[in-house]
Amino acid sequence: MPAVTVGWTCVYNILGVITVIGLLHKLFHRGDADCNEVRKLSSDYLEEDLAPTKRSAIQAHLSNCGPCRAFVDTLASTIGILSRFPKVSTPSTFHDSVMERIKQEKK
Ligand SMILES: [Zn+2]
Repeated sequence: MPAVTVGWTCVYNILGVITVIGLLHKLFHRGDADCNEVRKLSSDYLEEDLAPTKRSAIQAHLSNCGPCRAFVDTLASTIGILSRFPKVSTPSTFHDSVMERIKQEKK
């Protein structure tokens, strides 16, 4: 058997094993948050604006997923830095002028 054929067979076998592991993971971890969900809900998580079960699912995910933990930690740091900037008040017409400009740029 040529080496290239063996190589592709191995790749397909590995992909198959990964798929099966993924399906088993989903089967045994129903209700757990996945990476996309954690990143989507990270602001609500940091603001403690989630239902207790969802918050627990995210905490469980963060305890096992370094990239998501790094993402949430970075977001928390960024929010902390931004909150230290002085608040700026805008003129009363600011909102209307921004919305008008958005309408103009959509045209
Ligand atoms: Zn993750």
